[in-house]
Amino acid sequence: MEFRARFAPSPTGQVHIGNIRTAIFNWLATRHNKGTFLLRIEDTDLERSTQDAIDKLLDCMKWLGLDYDEEIMYQTRQSDLHKQAAKKLVEQGSAYPLNPAEEHSPILFRLPYECDGMKFVRQVGRVRLELAPGSAVQLNQAGVVYQTVSPKGKTVENAATLAGFKDLEILGADGSVLFRLDETTRGQLPSNPQEKMTVENAAALSFVRREVFYHDLVKGDLAKPLDSMKDFIIVRSDGSPVFHLANVYDDMQQRVTHIVRGDDHVENTYRHLFLFEALGFTPPQYAHLPMIVNKAGKPYSKRDGDAFVGDFREKGFLPQALFNYLSLLGWSPGDGREKMSKEELVEAFTIERALRSPAQFDMAKLTNMNALYIAELPEEEFRRAIGPYLEKFCLEAVGSPLLDQVAALMHSRTKTFADVAHWNYFFRSAEKLEYDAKALKKFLSDDMIRRSVSEFAEILETLPERCSAAEIESKIRAVEEKYGIPQGKLNQPLRIAVTGSTIGAGIYETIELIGSAESALRIRKALERKAE
Ligand code: GLU
Repeated sequence: MEFRARFAPSPTGQVHIGNIRTAIFNWLATRHNKGTFLLRIEDTDLERSTQDAIDKLLDCMKWLGLDYDEEIMYQTRQSDLHKQAAKKLVEQGSAYPLNPAEEHSPILFRLPYECDGMKFVRQVGRVRLELAPGSAVQLNQAGVVYQTVSPKGKTVENAATLAGFKDLEILGADGSVLFRLDETTRGQLPSNPQEKMTVENAAALSFVRREVFYHDLVKGDLAKPLDSMKDFIIVRSDGSPVFHLANVYDDMQQRVTHIVRGDDHVENTYRHLFLFEALGFTPPQYAHLPMIVNKAGKPYSKRDGDAFVGDFREKGFLPQALFNYLSLLGWSPGDGREKMSKEELVEAFTIERALRSPAQFDMAKLTNMNALYIAELPEEEFRRAIGPYLEKFCLEAVGSPLLDQVAALMHSRTKTFADVAHWNYFFRSAEKLEYDAKALKKFLSDDMIRRSVSEFAEILETLPERCSAAEIESKIRAVEEKYGIPQGKLNQPLRIAVTGSTIGAGIYETIELIGSAESALRIRKALERKAE
């Protein structure tokens, strides 16, 4: 059978990395299985689903190379079909109005009492449920309402679908059967959801428990007792279809065979299985992905840092790096590989290998992954890619004759394109250089260091303007030796003096690029500044 999967986002603004990870997993699973990848925009929340949000989503998908194979399905355009489906469900007895007397009543889906033949329903056995003393149990064809006592001693009201109570017996305190649910008595229960039959002085419920079960491709075998479920709304009083109906109907229409989505939808799945059945469609296979979480194990959100695809794009992450990183967030090829091309991911990806535990977002890991991808870019591509970031963060570099050499020197050290913001010192004159005051104090206070740094500046002044990194290194070593300073100890003070900061490329290469005279000038300025 053809493998058909879909990404079905609700476009409500920015695209969260959790959402796009769902898209990536669907896309990878589909490409691996040579199937069809569909995009359905669930835009039924008319207040939040703006065209701008849809454009953002499409843009993100394009940026990441998530191509789809058929025309986009817009859920709002399906609305008439959803309403027709609801009508058909009412006609076949699978759904009913909540207030039959009202013209515009919400429509509820009925979890069917006769469900033992369904592939996803099984009987667990007879159970006995103790009620709050002197309970009044209310029944109708929609369900059962009863009271129990919580562990804290509080009386709690419970309501569940009638389908959850196969062969129900309502028992009195003396064990007598006050009511028995069988074919005859079931037919006598009020069909109007607003009316109820009451059984007074009940002490316990005895019934055959049924549960809905299915095998989740990620989470394994899952089940939920039917007596913890309720009939649910599929059409609102304003006539608009509810998510459950729209989502299931569209999956049916798009002939989806695999649903890969966030595990916040597991609870919905128990209901959707019944809806598929009532609509006459074999339910697809489900794969529910655990959340992406922060260090504390809580769902990863904007509060934890960058959480939207657009944030990463702006900060200078490469789409292939973000794609690679997100595909490993809750999945692994099982052989220790991490940096993987799209082709390798497609080859290795099966949804069954998705991990059951929540995936922790790790910015440092993503940044390192990005650095690997940046390092691999051909030089011209790197130059092209940093263009917009230079304009934004390092304008002084634009048009500078030094830029080519600086870019070549810094390429292998660039983790995100926004790192160009730290390149200013290459292009700024000594007067405009900004110094990290703390570092200045830390590294340029010692007398011996100051004298040796000053001596090195004097040497620089005698050197040709462009001196090789190797030569500069040997001159620094010579000064260190003369002053009896351990080898390498002058590097950091010189770095501060020449660049203003403690981070950057190697100091020898940096001085080579900046030039001997300019570097000497900067050293003198730094020494003066420290003396101030
Ligand atoms: N629109 C739903 C969401 O974004 C889609 C659920 C699904 O994939 O079925 O959560």
